[in-house]
Amino acid sequence: MTPKHVPQRTCVACRQVKSKRELIRVVRAPDGRVYVDETGKANGRGAYLCRDRACWEKAVGQPRRASGGPLAHSLKVTLSEADQATLLEYAQQLGYVQQLPDTVPADANNLSS
Ligand SMILES: [Zn+2]
Repeated sequence: MTPKHVPQRTCVACRQVKSKRELIRVVRAPDGRVYVDETGKANGRGAYLCRDRACWEKAVGQPRRASGGPLAHSLKVTLSEADQATLLEYAQQLGYVQQLPDTVPADANNLSS
């Protein structure tokens, strides 16, 4: 029934569990630098995000604000402005794929607040 074992990981932003290959790994290197690990094999503590700009923006947080976002929390690191900029720049090429349920209520009648 299951052809082969597919490793699953959880996106730190939307908390959806997906197969590892559907997600992008962000790693905190031993030197504290945070970067996108496109091989998925780099040394360091890793966190996974969907190929979705919305998840990255939620996870990384806004530049120039103290970052206590889900990504920083997961990596147990404080993202520098440079790290944030790099990650958000990477996210731009991904584009928006889904609407996060907690930021865009499906049935709300466009309640602006
Ligand atoms: Zn996600």
